[in-house]
Amino acid sequence: MKIRARLLGTGGSFGIPGIGCDCPVCLSTHKKNKRLRTSAFIEAGGKKILIDASPDIRQVALLYKMDKIDQVLLSHFHEDHIGGLNDLRPFFMKNDKPIPLYLSEETLREISSRFGYLLDRFEIKLLEDETGSIDGFRYFTYSQGPTCVTGFRFGDFAYLTDIKVYPEAIFHELKGVKILVLGAIHEEGTGMHFSFPEAIEFGKRSKSPRIIFTHLAHEVDHEQGSAMLPSGFELGYDGMVFDV
Ligand SMILES: [Zn+2]
Ligand SMILES: [Zn+2]
Repeated sequence: MKIRARLLGTGGSFGIPGIGCDCPVCLSTHKKNKRLRTSAFIEAGGKKILIDASPDIRQVALLYKMDKIDQVLLSHFHEDHIGGLNDLRPFFMKNDKPIPLYLSEETLREISSRFGYLLDRFEIKLLEDETGSIDGFRYFTYSQGPTCVTGFRFGDFAYLTDIKVYPEAIFHELKGVKILVLGAIHEEGTGMHFSFPEAIEFGKRSKSPRIIFTHLAHEVDHEQGSAMLPSGFELGYDGMVFDV
Protein backbone atom coordinates (compact mmCIF):
# COMPACT_ATOMS: atom_id res chain seq x y z
CA MET A 1 0.00 0.00 0.00
CA LYS A 2 1.36 3.40 -1.01
CA ILE A 3 1.01 6.03 1.66
CA ARG A 4 1.55 9.76 1.62
CA ALA A 5 1.52 11.47 5.00
CA ARG A 6 1.58 15.13 5.88
CA LEU A 7 2.14 16.48 9.39
CA LEU A 8 -0.45 19.26 9.63
CA GLY A 9 0.84 20.38 13.00
CA THR A 10 3.72 19.29 15.23
CA GLY A 11 3.23 21.50 18.29
CA GLY A 12 2.22 20.69 21.85
CA SER A 13 -1.07 21.80 23.32
CA PHE A 14 -0.28 25.57 23.39
CA GLY A 15 1.10 25.76 19.86
CA ILE A 16 4.22 27.77 19.04
CA PRO A 17 4.62 30.66 19.44
CA GLY A 18 2.86 30.45 22.77
CA ILE A 19 0.61 33.34 23.74
CA GLY A 20 2.61 36.00 25.56
CA CYS A 21 5.85 33.98 25.45
CA ASP A 22 9.11 35.76 24.72
CA CYS A 23 11.39 32.71 24.76
CA PRO A 24 13.90 32.42 21.85
CA VAL A 25 11.89 29.73 20.05
CA CYS A 26 8.58 31.59 20.30
CA LEU A 27 10.30 34.75 19.04
CA SER A 28 12.21 32.87 16.31
CA THR A 29 11.43 33.68 12.70
CA HIS A 30 12.61 30.24 11.55
CA LYS A 31 9.71 28.56 9.71
CA LYS A 32 10.28 25.25 11.47
CA ASN A 33 9.91 26.91 14.86
CA LYS A 34 6.25 27.67 14.11
CA ARG A 35 4.12 24.77 15.26
CA LEU A 36 0.36 24.35 15.14
CA ARG A 37 -1.32 21.74 17.29
CA THR A 38 -0.62 18.12 16.41
CA SER A 39 -2.56 16.40 13.64
CA ALA A 40 -1.82 14.55 10.39
CA PHE A 41 -3.35 13.90 6.99
CA ILE A 42 -2.81 10.52 5.36
CA GLU A 43 -3.56 9.37 1.83
CA ALA A 44 -3.71 5.59 1.75
CA GLY A 45 -5.60 3.10 -0.39
CA GLY A 46 -7.29 5.95 -2.29
CA LYS A 47 -8.66 7.44 0.94
CA LYS A 48 -8.02 10.78 2.60
CA ILE A 49 -7.68 10.29 6.32
CA LEU A 50 -7.45 12.89 9.07
CA ILE A 51 -5.77 11.89 12.33
CA ASP A 52 -7.04 14.20 15.07
CA ALA A 53 -9.02 17.40 14.66
CA SER A 54 -6.79 19.94 16.34
CA PRO A 55 -8.06 23.44 17.19
CA ASP A 56 -5.99 24.60 14.19
CA ILE A 57 -7.82 22.39 11.69
CA ARG A 58 -9.53 25.26 9.87
CA GLN A 59 -6.22 27.00 9.26
CA VAL A 60 -4.48 23.88 7.93
CA ALA A 61 -7.46 22.82 5.81
CA LEU A 62 -7.29 26.19 4.07
CA LEU A 63 -3.49 26.19 3.85
CA TYR A 64 -3.27 22.75 2.25
CA LYS A 65 -6.51 23.09 0.29
CA MET A 66 -8.04 20.02 1.87
CA ASP A 67 -11.27 19.45 0.00
CA LYS A 68 -12.32 16.02 1.17
CA ILE A 69 -12.02 13.74 4.18
CA ASP A 70 -13.03 10.08 3.91
CA GLN A 71 -12.20 9.02 7.46
CA VAL A 72 -11.44 10.75 10.77
CA LEU A 73 -9.34 8.94 13.38
CA LEU A 74 -9.07 10.27 16.93
CA SER A 75 -6.14 9.36 19.17
CA HIS A 76 -7.82 10.54 22.41
CA PHE A 77 -10.12 13.22 23.77
CA HIS A 78 -7.75 15.97 24.92
CA GLU A 79 -8.63 19.41 23.63
CA ASP A 80 -5.54 19.78 21.42
CA HIS A 81 -6.72 16.69 19.46
CA ILE A 82 -10.48 17.24 19.23
CA GLY A 83 -11.00 20.99 19.58
CA GLY A 84 -11.46 21.35 15.80
CA LEU A 85 -14.27 18.81 15.37
CA ASN A 86 -16.87 21.54 14.92
CA ASP A 87 -14.79 23.07 12.12
CA LEU A 88 -15.17 19.88 10.07
CA ARG A 89 -18.75 20.89 9.22
CA PRO A 90 -17.90 22.10 5.68
CA PHE A 91 -16.71 18.54 4.95
CA PHE A 92 -20.09 17.16 6.04
CA MET A 93 -21.79 19.30 3.43
CA LYS A 94 -19.52 17.93 0.70
CA ASN A 95 -20.04 14.30 1.68
CA ASP A 96 -23.40 12.82 0.85
CA LYS A 97 -23.06 10.30 3.66
CA PRO A 98 -21.73 10.51 7.23
CA ILE A 99 -17.94 10.45 7.59
CA PRO A 100 -16.63 7.37 9.44
CA LEU A 101 -15.16 8.41 12.81
CA TYR A 102 -12.81 5.91 14.47
CA LEU A 103 -12.29 6.23 18.20
CA SER A 104 -12.09 4.36 21.50
CA GLU A 105 -15.05 4.04 23.83
CA GLU A 106 -13.39 6.47 26.26
CA THR A 107 -12.95 9.07 23.53
CA LEU A 108 -16.54 8.59 22.36
CA ARG A 109 -17.83 9.19 25.89
CA GLU A 110 -16.07 12.54 26.11
CA ILE A 111 -16.96 13.58 22.57
CA SER A 112 -20.62 12.75 23.19
CA SER A 113 -20.90 15.27 26.01
CA ARG A 114 -19.09 18.04 24.14
CA PHE A 115 -19.97 17.44 20.52
CA GLY A 116 -23.20 15.44 20.81
CA TYR A 117 -24.83 17.68 18.20
CA LEU A 118 -22.27 16.53 15.62
CA LEU A 119 -22.47 12.81 16.18
CA ASP A 120 -25.18 12.08 13.63
CA ARG A 121 -22.94 13.60 10.95
CA PHE A 122 -20.42 10.85 11.63
CA GLU A 123 -20.63 7.11 11.22
CA ILE A 124 -19.24 5.99 14.59
CA LYS A 125 -16.68 3.19 14.31
CA LEU A 126 -15.73 2.04 17.78
CA LEU A 127 -12.23 0.68 18.29
CA GLU A 128 -13.37 -1.87 20.83
CA ASP A 129 -10.22 -3.86 21.52
CA GLU A 130 -6.75 -2.99 22.82
CA THR A 131 -5.39 -3.79 19.37
CA GLY A 132 -7.09 -4.70 16.17
CA SER A 133 -7.59 -4.16 12.45
CA ILE A 134 -10.40 -2.21 10.86
CA ASP A 135 -11.07 -0.75 7.41
CA GLY A 136 -7.48 -0.82 6.14
CA PHE A 137 -5.45 0.07 9.24
CA ARG A 138 -4.31 -1.38 12.56
CA TYR A 139 -4.75 0.34 15.90
CA PHE A 140 -3.24 -0.19 19.32
CA THR A 141 -3.62 1.29 22.78
CA TYR A 142 -1.17 2.95 25.19
CA SER A 143 -1.59 5.71 27.73
CA GLN A 144 -0.61 9.12 29.04
CA GLY A 145 -1.55 9.57 32.69
CA PRO A 146 -5.07 8.25 33.22
CA THR A 147 -6.00 8.65 29.55
CA CYS A 148 -6.03 5.83 27.01
CA VAL A 149 -4.56 6.86 23.67
CA THR A 150 -4.85 5.08 20.32
CA GLY A 151 -1.98 4.72 17.84
CA PHE A 152 -2.45 3.83 14.18
CA ARG A 153 -0.59 1.86 11.54
CA PHE A 154 -1.15 2.03 7.79
CA GLY A 155 1.08 -0.40 5.91
CA ASP A 156 4.65 0.48 6.90
CA PHE A 157 3.76 3.81 8.48
CA ALA A 158 2.80 4.26 12.14
CA TYR A 159 1.61 7.31 14.07
CA LEU A 160 1.81 7.39 17.88
CA THR A 161 1.28 10.70 19.61
CA ASP A 162 0.84 11.52 23.30
CA ILE A 163 2.59 8.39 24.53
CA LYS A 164 4.06 7.79 27.98
CA VAL A 165 3.22 4.27 29.18
CA TYR A 166 2.93 1.36 26.77
CA PRO A 167 2.61 -2.41 26.74
CA GLU A 168 5.58 -4.48 25.54
CA ALA A 169 3.37 -5.97 22.84
CA ILE A 170 3.46 -2.61 21.06
CA PHE A 171 6.85 -3.51 19.57
CA HIS A 172 5.26 -6.54 17.93
CA GLU A 173 2.68 -4.19 16.40
CA LEU A 174 5.45 -1.96 15.05
CA LYS A 175 7.49 -4.71 13.42
CA GLY A 176 8.53 -3.71 9.90
CA VAL A 177 7.42 -0.07 10.21
CA LYS A 178 9.57 2.12 7.93
CA ILE A 179 8.46 5.50 9.20
CA LEU A 180 7.33 6.06 12.77
CA VAL A 181 5.88 9.39 13.88
CA LEU A 182 6.30 9.51 17.63
CA GLY A 183 5.17 11.96 20.31
CA ALA A 184 8.06 13.51 22.30
CA ILE A 185 7.66 16.84 24.00
CA HIS A 186 11.19 18.04 24.88
CA GLU A 187 14.48 16.87 26.38
CA GLU A 188 13.13 16.40 29.93
CA GLY A 189 9.65 15.03 29.18
CA THR A 190 6.63 15.28 31.50
CA GLY A 191 4.37 12.86 33.35
CA MET A 192 2.23 12.79 30.21
CA HIS A 193 4.78 12.89 27.38
CA PHE A 194 8.00 11.14 26.39
CA SER A 195 11.26 12.97 26.98
CA PHE A 196 13.67 12.83 24.03
CA PRO A 197 15.75 10.07 25.71
CA GLU A 198 12.58 8.03 26.34
CA ALA A 199 11.46 8.51 22.75
CA ILE A 200 14.91 7.55 21.46
CA GLU A 201 14.88 4.37 23.53
CA PHE A 202 11.39 3.54 22.28
CA GLY A 203 12.36 4.34 18.70
CA LYS A 204 15.39 2.09 18.85
CA ARG A 205 13.35 -0.77 20.26
CA SER A 206 10.81 -0.35 17.45
CA LYS A 207 13.67 -0.95 14.95
CA SER A 208 12.07 1.54 12.60
CA PRO A 209 14.79 3.08 10.39
CA ARG A 210 13.20 6.55 10.40
CA ILE A 211 11.60 8.12 13.45
CA ILE A 212 10.04 11.57 13.39
CA PHE A 213 9.16 13.39 16.62
CA THR A 214 5.95 15.38 16.90
CA HIS A 215 3.97 17.23 19.64
CA LEU A 216 7.02 19.38 20.37
CA ALA A 217 7.03 22.11 23.01
CA HIS A 218 8.55 25.59 22.78
CA GLU A 219 11.68 24.44 24.61
CA VAL A 220 12.70 22.78 21.33
CA ASP A 221 14.55 24.83 18.74
CA HIS A 222 14.35 23.00 15.41
CA GLU A 223 17.97 23.38 14.33
CA GLN A 224 19.57 22.83 17.73
CA GLY A 225 17.24 19.97 18.65
CA SER A 226 17.75 18.23 15.29
CA ALA A 227 21.53 18.41 15.65
CA MET A 228 21.37 16.56 18.97
CA LEU A 229 19.41 13.54 17.73
CA PRO A 230 21.08 10.25 16.80
CA SER A 231 20.96 9.02 13.22
CA GLY A 232 17.54 7.77 12.15
CA PHE A 233 15.78 10.36 14.32
CA GLU A 234 14.38 13.71 13.15
CA LEU A 235 12.24 16.50 14.47
CA GLY A 236 9.01 16.84 12.56
CA TYR A 237 7.84 20.23 11.35
CA ASP A 238 4.53 21.62 10.16
CA GLY A 239 3.81 20.70 6.56
CA MET A 240 6.39 17.89 6.47
CA VAL A 241 5.38 15.35 3.81
CA PHE A 242 6.70 11.88 3.23
CA ASP A 243 5.89 8.85 1.10
CA VAL A 244 6.07 5.39 2.57
ZN1 LIG B 1 7.99 30.13 24.23
ZN1 LIG C 1 -1.72 16.28 22.94
